Amino acid sequence: MAEKRDYYEVLGVPKNASDADIKKAFRTLAKKYHPDMHPGDKECEEKFKEAQEAYAVLSDAEKRKQYDQFGHAAFDGTGGGAGGFDFSGMDMGDIFGDIFGDFFGGGGARRRGNDGPMKGANLRTSVRITFEEAVFGCEKEIEMVLKDECATCHGTGAKPGTSPETCTKCGGKGKVVFTQQSFFGTVQNVQTCPDCNGTGKVVKDKCPDCRGTGYIARKRKIQVTIPAGIDNGQSVRIREKGEPGVNGGPRGDLLVEVVVSRHPIFQRQDMNIYSTAPVTFAQAALGGEIRINTVDGDVLYEVKPGTQTDTKIRLKGKGVPSLRNKGVRGDQYVTLVVQTPTGLNNEAKEALRHFDELTGASLNRSNAGGNGTQEKGKKKKGFMDKLKESFDDI
Ligand SMILES: [Zn+2]
Ligand SMILES: [Zn+2]
Repeated sequence: MAEKRDYYEVLGVPKNASDADIKKAFRTLAKKYHPDMHPGDKECEEKFKEAQEAYAVLSDAEKRKQYDQFGHAAFDGTGGGAGGFDFSGMDMGDIFGDIFGDFFGGGGARRRGNDGPMKGANLRTSVRITFEEAVFGCEKEIEMVLKDECATCHGTGAKPGTSPETCTKCGGKGKVVFTQQSFFGTVQNVQTCPDCNGTGKVVKDKCPDCRGTGYIARKRKIQVTIPAGIDNGQSVRIREKGEPGVNGGPRGDLLVEVVVSRHPIFQRQDMNIYSTAPVTFAQAALGGEIRINTVDGDVLYEVKPGTQTDTKIRLKGKGVPSLRNKGVRGDQYVTLVVQTPTGLNNEAKEALRHFDELTGASLNRSNAGGNGTQEKGKKKKGFMDKLKESFDDI
Protein backbone atom coordinates (compact mmCIF):
# COMPACT_ATOMS: atom_id res chain seq x y z
CA MET A 1 0.00 0.00 0.00
CA ALA A 2 1.30 3.45 -0.87
CA GLU A 3 2.35 5.79 1.91
CA LYS A 4 -0.67 7.65 3.22
CA ARG A 5 -0.73 11.38 2.69
CA ASP A 6 -1.24 13.75 5.55
CA TYR A 7 -4.96 14.52 5.92
CA TYR A 8 -4.36 18.26 6.10
CA GLU A 9 -2.29 18.04 2.93
CA VAL A 10 -5.05 16.04 1.23
CA LEU A 11 -7.58 18.77 1.96
CA GLY A 12 -5.04 21.53 1.37
CA VAL A 13 -5.70 23.26 4.66
CA PRO A 14 -3.34 24.37 7.45
CA LYS A 15 -3.11 22.39 10.70
CA ASN A 16 -5.07 25.07 12.54
CA ALA A 17 -7.87 25.24 9.95
CA SER A 18 -11.34 25.89 11.37
CA ASP A 19 -14.17 23.39 10.96
CA ALA A 20 -15.71 25.69 8.37
CA ASP A 21 -12.46 25.78 6.36
CA ILE A 22 -12.21 21.99 6.44
CA LYS A 23 -15.78 21.60 5.28
CA LYS A 24 -15.28 24.15 2.54
CA ALA A 25 -12.07 22.47 1.35
CA PHE A 26 -13.73 19.07 1.29
CA ARG A 27 -16.75 20.41 -0.53
CA THR A 28 -14.52 21.83 -3.24
CA LEU A 29 -12.61 18.55 -3.63
CA ALA A 30 -15.73 16.41 -3.47
CA LYS A 31 -17.31 18.50 -6.20
CA LYS A 32 -14.16 18.23 -8.30
CA TYR A 33 -13.59 14.48 -7.92
CA HIS A 34 -17.05 13.10 -7.26
CA PRO A 35 -17.27 9.74 -9.11
CA ASP A 36 -20.70 10.66 -10.51
CA MET A 37 -19.01 13.40 -12.50
CA HIS A 38 -16.14 11.21 -13.73
CA PRO A 39 -17.60 7.76 -14.33
CA GLY A 40 -14.88 5.11 -14.67
CA ASP A 41 -12.01 7.46 -13.80
CA LYS A 42 -9.99 5.49 -11.25
CA GLU A 43 -7.72 8.35 -10.33
CA CYS A 44 -10.63 10.65 -9.52
CA GLU A 45 -12.22 7.91 -7.52
CA GLU A 46 -9.04 7.45 -5.46
CA LYS A 47 -8.75 11.19 -4.93
CA PHE A 48 -12.36 11.34 -3.87
CA LYS A 49 -11.91 8.49 -1.40
CA GLU A 50 -8.78 10.08 0.00
CA ALA A 51 -10.57 13.38 0.55
CA GLN A 52 -13.55 11.58 2.04
CA GLU A 53 -11.35 9.79 4.55
CA ALA A 54 -9.48 12.96 5.47
CA TYR A 55 -12.74 14.80 5.95
CA ALA A 56 -14.25 12.02 8.05
CA VAL A 57 -11.38 12.34 10.48
CA LEU A 58 -10.78 16.10 10.51
CA SER A 59 -14.48 16.99 10.76
CA ASP A 60 -14.82 14.94 13.93
CA ALA A 61 -13.33 16.84 16.89
CA GLU A 62 -12.38 13.69 18.79
CA LYS A 63 -10.85 11.92 15.78
CA ARG A 64 -9.03 15.07 14.73
CA LYS A 65 -7.47 15.34 18.18
CA GLN A 66 -6.31 11.74 17.95
CA TYR A 67 -4.93 12.29 14.48
CA ASP A 68 -3.08 15.44 15.55
CA GLN A 69 -1.52 13.48 18.37
CA PHE A 70 -0.73 10.15 16.75
CA GLY A 71 -1.03 10.69 13.00
CA HIS A 72 -2.31 7.80 10.92
CA ALA A 73 -1.24 5.42 13.67
CA ALA A 74 -4.20 6.69 15.67
CA PHE A 75 -6.50 4.58 13.50
CA ASP A 76 -4.32 1.57 12.79
CA GLY A 77 -5.09 -0.22 16.00
CA THR A 78 -8.82 -0.39 15.42
CA GLY A 79 -8.57 -3.25 12.99
CA GLY A 80 -9.73 -1.30 9.99
CA GLY A 81 -8.55 -4.05 7.67
CA ALA A 82 -6.79 -3.37 4.41
CA GLY A 83 -7.72 0.27 4.35
CA GLY A 84 -6.52 0.72 7.89
CA PHE A 85 -9.40 3.00 8.63
CA ASP A 86 -12.53 2.30 10.53
CA PHE A 87 -15.61 3.87 9.03
CA SER A 88 -17.96 2.04 11.32
CA GLY A 89 -19.97 4.32 13.49
CA MET A 90 -19.68 7.00 10.89
CA ASP A 91 -22.59 7.93 8.73
CA MET A 92 -21.08 8.94 5.42
CA GLY A 93 -24.55 9.22 3.92
CA ASP A 94 -25.36 12.01 6.28
CA ILE A 95 -22.10 13.81 5.65
CA PHE A 96 -23.09 13.82 2.00
CA GLY A 97 -26.65 14.80 2.68
CA ASP A 98 -25.22 17.72 4.55
CA ILE A 99 -22.61 18.66 1.97
CA PHE A 100 -24.46 18.03 -1.24
CA GLY A 101 -27.71 19.41 0.09
CA ASP A 102 -26.42 22.90 -0.61
CA PHE A 103 -25.60 22.46 -4.24
CA PHE A 104 -28.26 20.09 -5.43
CA GLY A 105 -31.28 22.23 -4.92
CA GLY A 106 -31.30 24.20 -1.78
CA GLY A 107 -32.05 24.15 1.90
CA GLY A 108 -30.91 20.61 2.55
CA ALA A 109 -33.96 19.35 0.69
CA ARG A 110 -33.54 15.89 -0.68
CA ARG A 111 -33.59 15.23 -4.35
CA ARG A 112 -36.72 13.25 -4.75
CA GLY A 113 -39.53 12.50 -7.05
CA ASN A 114 -43.01 12.41 -5.63
CA ASP A 115 -43.91 9.17 -7.35
CA GLY A 116 -41.65 6.28 -6.31
CA PRO A 117 -41.34 4.78 -2.87
CA MET A 118 -38.82 6.65 -0.76
CA LYS A 119 -37.02 5.68 2.40
CA GLY A 120 -37.87 7.78 5.45
CA ALA A 121 -35.35 10.10 7.08
CA ASN A 122 -32.94 8.82 9.73
CA LEU A 123 -33.48 9.81 13.33
CA ARG A 124 -30.71 10.41 15.84
CA THR A 125 -30.52 10.10 19.55
CA SER A 126 -27.85 9.37 22.13
CA VAL A 127 -27.52 7.06 25.09
CA ARG A 128 -25.13 7.32 28.04
CA ILE A 129 -23.34 4.17 29.15
CA THR A 130 -20.63 3.36 31.69
CA PHE A 131 -17.03 2.60 30.86
CA GLU A 132 -17.59 -1.11 31.64
CA GLU A 133 -20.73 -1.24 29.49
CA ALA A 134 -18.68 0.08 26.58
CA VAL A 135 -16.01 -2.57 27.19
CA PHE A 136 -18.33 -5.54 27.54
CA GLY A 137 -21.39 -4.40 25.58
CA CYS A 138 -24.88 -4.01 26.99
CA GLU A 139 -28.57 -3.82 26.27
CA LYS A 140 -30.30 -0.49 26.74
CA GLU A 141 -33.91 0.49 26.46
CA ILE A 142 -34.54 3.95 25.11
CA GLU A 143 -37.74 5.88 24.55
CA MET A 144 -38.33 7.52 21.21
CA VAL A 145 -41.26 9.39 19.75
CA LEU A 146 -41.88 7.64 16.45
CA LYS A 147 -44.34 8.60 13.76
CA ASP A 148 -46.68 6.04 12.26
CA GLU A 149 -49.03 6.38 9.37
CA CYS A 150 -52.41 7.64 10.62
CA ALA A 151 -54.88 4.74 10.52
CA THR A 152 -57.86 7.07 10.03
CA CYS A 153 -56.68 8.70 6.80
CA HIS A 154 -54.03 6.13 5.81
CA GLY A 155 -51.40 8.84 5.68
CA THR A 156 -53.20 11.15 3.26
CA GLY A 157 -53.98 13.75 5.96
CA ALA A 158 -57.49 14.24 4.50
CA LYS A 159 -60.65 13.92 6.55
CA PRO A 160 -62.29 10.51 5.93
CA GLY A 161 -64.75 10.83 3.06
CA THR A 162 -62.70 13.56 1.39
CA SER A 163 -59.48 13.19 -0.54
CA PRO A 164 -56.51 15.46 -1.08
CA GLU A 165 -56.79 17.74 -4.09
CA THR A 166 -54.23 18.27 -6.79
CA CYS A 167 -51.93 21.20 -5.98
CA THR A 168 -52.64 24.13 -8.26
CA LYS A 169 -49.17 25.67 -7.98
CA CYS A 170 -47.32 22.68 -9.43
CA GLY A 171 -50.23 20.94 -11.16
CA GLY A 172 -49.63 17.83 -9.02
CA LYS A 173 -46.01 17.39 -10.10
CA GLY A 174 -44.61 18.31 -6.70
CA LYS A 175 -41.89 20.34 -8.39
CA VAL A 176 -41.67 23.82 -9.77
CA VAL A 177 -39.19 24.93 -12.42
CA PHE A 178 -37.57 28.33 -12.29
CA THR A 179 -34.85 29.98 -14.33
CA GLN A 180 -31.77 31.34 -12.66
CA GLN A 181 -28.65 33.19 -13.68
CA SER A 182 -25.60 31.40 -12.36
CA PHE A 183 -21.91 30.97 -12.80
CA PHE A 184 -22.58 28.48 -15.59
CA GLY A 185 -24.98 30.78 -17.46
CA THR A 186 -28.75 30.58 -17.44
CA VAL A 187 -29.93 27.40 -15.80
CA GLN A 188 -33.28 25.89 -15.19
CA ASN A 189 -33.66 24.82 -11.65
CA VAL A 190 -36.16 22.37 -10.30
CA GLN A 191 -37.34 22.93 -6.80
CA THR A 192 -39.75 21.16 -4.51
CA CYS A 193 -43.14 22.86 -4.66
CA PRO A 194 -43.47 25.04 -1.57
CA ASP A 195 -47.30 24.78 -1.48
CA CYS A 196 -47.54 20.99 -1.29
CA ASN A 197 -43.99 20.18 -0.10
CA GLY A 198 -43.47 17.96 -3.12
CA THR A 199 -46.49 15.74 -2.55
CA GLY A 200 -48.44 17.24 -5.45
CA LYS A 201 -51.53 17.24 -3.29
CA VAL A 202 -53.16 19.76 -1.00
CA VAL A 203 -55.49 18.80 1.83
CA LYS A 204 -58.55 21.04 2.22
CA ASP A 205 -60.44 19.13 4.97
CA LYS A 206 -57.88 17.88 7.42
CA CYS A 207 -58.10 14.50 9.13
CA PRO A 208 -59.10 15.18 12.76
CA ASP A 209 -56.92 12.43 14.20
CA CYS A 210 -53.59 13.56 12.76
CA ARG A 211 -54.52 17.21 12.06
CA GLY A 212 -53.70 16.73 8.41
CA THR A 213 -50.14 15.54 8.89
CA GLY A 214 -50.94 11.93 7.93
CA TYR A 215 -48.92 10.69 10.89
CA ILE A 216 -49.52 9.87 14.53
CA ALA A 217 -46.58 10.31 16.91
CA ARG A 218 -46.22 7.77 19.69
CA LYS A 219 -43.69 7.14 22.42
CA ARG A 220 -42.07 3.77 21.95
CA LYS A 221 -39.58 1.73 23.88
CA ILE A 222 -36.72 0.51 21.74
CA GLN A 223 -34.10 -2.09 22.69
CA VAL A 224 -30.59 -1.13 21.72
CA THR A 225 -27.89 -3.79 21.63
CA ILE A 226 -24.58 -2.04 22.21
CA PRO A 227 -21.65 -4.18 21.06
CA ALA A 228 -18.60 -4.83 23.24
CA GLY A 229 -15.74 -2.48 22.36
CA ILE A 230 -17.81 0.51 21.27
CA ASP A 231 -16.13 3.85 21.89
CA ASN A 232 -17.40 7.26 22.88
CA GLY A 233 -19.04 9.02 19.91
CA GLN A 234 -19.68 5.91 17.82
CA SER A 235 -23.23 5.14 16.76
CA VAL A 236 -25.35 2.03 16.64
CA ARG A 237 -27.70 1.82 13.67
CA ILE A 238 -31.13 0.35 14.27
CA ARG A 239 -32.77 -0.41 10.96
CA GLU A 240 -36.22 0.98 10.21
CA LYS A 241 -36.80 2.85 13.46
CA GLY A 242 -36.54 6.28 11.83
CA GLU A 243 -39.18 8.37 10.08
CA PRO A 244 -41.77 6.48 8.05
CA GLY A 245 -41.13 6.05 4.34
CA VAL A 246 -43.15 7.72 1.64
CA ASN A 247 -45.25 5.91 -0.95
CA GLY A 248 -44.60 2.53 0.58
CA GLY A 249 -40.86 3.10 1.03
CA PRO A 250 -39.11 1.63 4.07
CA ARG A 251 -38.68 3.56 7.30
CA GLY A 252 -35.44 5.42 7.89
CA ASP A 253 -32.98 4.20 10.50
CA LEU A 254 -32.38 5.24 14.06
CA LEU A 255 -28.78 6.19 14.85
CA VAL A 256 -27.99 5.94 18.53
CA GLU A 257 -24.81 7.74 19.47
CA VAL A 258 -23.05 6.28 22.48
CA VAL A 259 -21.76 8.65 25.16
CA VAL A 260 -19.36 6.85 27.48
CA SER A 261 -19.02 8.21 31.02
CA ARG A 262 -15.57 8.84 32.42
CA HIS A 263 -14.18 6.18 34.71
CA PRO A 264 -12.48 7.19 37.99
CA ILE A 265 -9.56 4.80 37.40
CA PHE A 266 -9.44 3.74 33.77
CA GLN A 267 -8.72 5.74 30.69
CA ARG A 268 -9.07 4.39 27.22
CA GLN A 269 -7.23 4.87 23.96
CA ASP A 270 -8.67 2.71 21.19
CA MET A 271 -8.44 -0.86 22.49
CA ASN A 272 -6.01 -0.20 25.33
CA ILE A 273 -6.79 0.82 28.89
CA TYR A 274 -4.48 2.97 30.99
CA SER A 275 -4.40 3.23 34.77
CA THR A 276 -2.07 3.84 37.70
CA ALA A 277 -1.51 1.67 40.75
CA PRO A 278 -0.02 2.75 44.06
CA VAL A 279 2.97 0.88 45.47
CA THR A 280 4.18 1.52 49.01
CA PHE A 281 7.74 2.60 49.58
CA ALA A 282 8.53 -0.71 51.27
CA GLN A 283 6.96 -2.76 48.47
CA ALA A 284 8.88 -0.79 45.87
CA ALA A 285 12.15 -1.33 47.71
CA LEU A 286 11.72 -4.92 48.85
CA GLY A 287 9.27 -6.27 46.28
CA GLY A 288 5.87 -7.74 47.07
CA GLU A 289 2.42 -8.51 45.81
CA ILE A 290 -0.01 -5.73 44.91
CA ARG A 291 -3.61 -5.73 43.69
CA ILE A 292 -4.32 -4.01 40.40
CA ASN A 293 -7.84 -3.11 39.27
CA THR A 294 -8.78 -4.30 35.81
CA VAL A 295 -12.14 -4.35 34.07
CA ASP A 296 -12.20 -8.09 34.80
CA GLY A 297 -11.68 -7.54 38.54
CA ASP A 298 -8.51 -7.31 40.62
CA VAL A 299 -5.38 -9.16 39.60
CA LEU A 300 -2.34 -9.85 41.77
CA TYR A 301 0.97 -8.57 40.51
CA GLU A 302 4.41 -9.28 41.90
CA VAL A 303 6.38 -6.04 42.21
CA LYS A 304 10.10 -6.60 41.74
CA PRO A 305 12.51 -5.41 44.47
CA GLY A 306 13.91 -1.98 43.59
CA THR A 307 10.96 -0.85 41.48
CA GLN A 308 11.09 2.86 40.65
CA THR A 309 8.07 5.12 40.54
CA ASP A 310 6.63 5.56 37.01
CA THR A 311 7.51 1.97 36.06
CA LYS A 312 5.07 0.84 33.39
CA ILE A 313 3.74 -2.67 33.19
CA ARG A 314 1.48 -4.31 30.64
CA LEU A 315 -1.38 -6.63 31.52
CA LYS A 316 -1.95 -8.54 28.32
CA GLY A 317 -5.53 -8.98 27.17
CA LYS A 318 -7.02 -6.79 29.90
CA GLY A 319 -7.99 -4.06 27.46
CA VAL A 320 -11.08 -3.45 25.33
CA PRO A 321 -12.39 -6.08 22.89
CA SER A 322 -12.29 -5.33 19.19
CA LEU A 323 -15.66 -4.23 17.82
CA ARG A 324 -15.21 -6.69 14.99
CA ASN A 325 -14.05 -9.65 17.04
CA LYS A 326 -14.93 -9.96 20.71
CA GLY A 327 -12.15 -12.54 21.14
CA VAL A 328 -9.43 -10.02 20.36
CA ARG A 329 -8.67 -7.69 23.24
CA GLY A 330 -6.29 -4.81 23.81
CA ASP A 331 -3.98 -4.56 26.80
CA GLN A 332 -3.95 -2.62 30.04
CA TYR A 333 -0.96 -0.40 30.73
CA VAL A 334 -0.39 0.31 34.39
CA THR A 335 1.93 2.99 35.73
CA LEU A 336 3.24 2.11 39.18
CA VAL A 337 3.37 5.12 41.50
CA VAL A 338 5.55 4.80 44.58
CA GLN A 339 3.84 6.42 47.54
CA THR A 340 5.93 8.61 49.81
CA PRO A 341 4.87 7.75 53.37
CA THR A 342 2.96 10.48 55.22
CA GLY A 343 1.55 10.78 58.73
CA LEU A 344 4.38 8.79 60.26
CA ASN A 345 4.44 8.26 64.02
CA ASN A 346 7.63 8.88 65.99
CA GLU A 347 8.69 5.27 65.89
CA ALA A 348 8.32 5.09 62.13
CA LYS A 349 10.20 8.37 61.75
CA GLU A 350 12.99 7.06 63.89
CA ALA A 351 13.14 3.89 61.84
CA LEU A 352 13.35 5.95 58.68
CA ARG A 353 16.17 8.06 60.13
CA HIS A 354 17.96 4.90 61.05
CA PHE A 355 17.32 3.56 57.56
CA ASP A 356 18.80 6.76 56.17
CA GLU A 357 21.93 6.42 58.26
CA LEU A 358 22.42 2.93 56.90
CA THR A 359 21.95 4.02 53.30
CA GLY A 360 24.18 7.05 52.91
CA ALA A 361 22.84 9.53 55.50
CA SER A 362 21.18 11.80 52.97
CA LEU A 363 19.43 13.68 55.78
CA ASN A 364 22.72 15.01 57.10
CA ARG A 365 24.43 15.66 53.85
CA SER A 366 23.09 19.09 52.85
CA ASN A 367 22.53 20.80 56.21
CA ALA A 368 25.22 19.70 58.58
CA GLY A 369 24.00 18.87 62.05
CA GLY A 370 20.44 19.85 61.22
CA ASN A 371 17.60 17.50 61.98
CA GLY A 372 14.96 19.20 59.92
CA THR A 373 13.03 20.59 62.86
CA GLN A 374 15.22 23.60 63.54
CA GLU A 375 13.50 26.93 63.90
CA LYS A 376 13.57 29.10 60.83
CA GLY A 377 16.04 31.82 61.93
CA LYS A 378 18.64 29.32 62.97
CA LYS A 379 18.33 27.40 59.75
CA LYS A 380 18.73 30.56 57.74
CA LYS A 381 21.85 31.47 59.65
CA GLY A 382 23.25 28.03 59.03
CA PHE A 383 22.66 28.48 55.34
CA MET A 384 24.32 31.94 55.32
CA ASP A 385 27.29 30.58 57.23
CA LYS A 386 27.64 27.90 54.69
CA LEU A 387 27.47 30.43 51.90
CA LYS A 388 30.18 32.47 53.59
CA GLU A 389 32.25 29.36 53.92
CA SER A 390 32.05 28.67 50.27
CA PHE A 391 33.11 32.24 49.48
CA ASP A 392 36.07 31.89 51.81
CA ASP A 393 37.19 28.95 49.79
CA ILE A 394 37.61 30.99 46.67
ZN1 LIG B 1 -55.10 11.14 9.66
ZN1 LIG C 1 -47.54 21.69 -5.37
